Amino acid sequence: MNIVKKYTNGEITIVWKPAKCTYAAACVRMCPEVFKPRERPWVKPDNASTEKIIDTVKACPSGALTFFYNEEQA
Ligand code: SF4
Repeated sequence: MNIVKKYTNGEITIVWKPAKCTYAAACVRMCPEVFKPRERPWVKPDNASTEKIIDTVKACPSGALTFFYNEEQA
């Protein structure tokens, strides 16, 4: 299944592909205020700075998390 979930804080959009996620929880350890696996939706993009979110997304070992700047999408 190619489910793709998107979560935006207005500035960037976090893209999560559950099929790729290994649930190693690197994101949860690095940025627990945003990545909350027990909640739905599990990503709360307003809870940390854009910079911290980007660092966390880049640390995802599986490639399940990516992001783009909203202005680039237009
Ligand atoms: S860091 Fe990536 S692979 Fe690990 S739980 Fe988060 S999204 Fe999934």
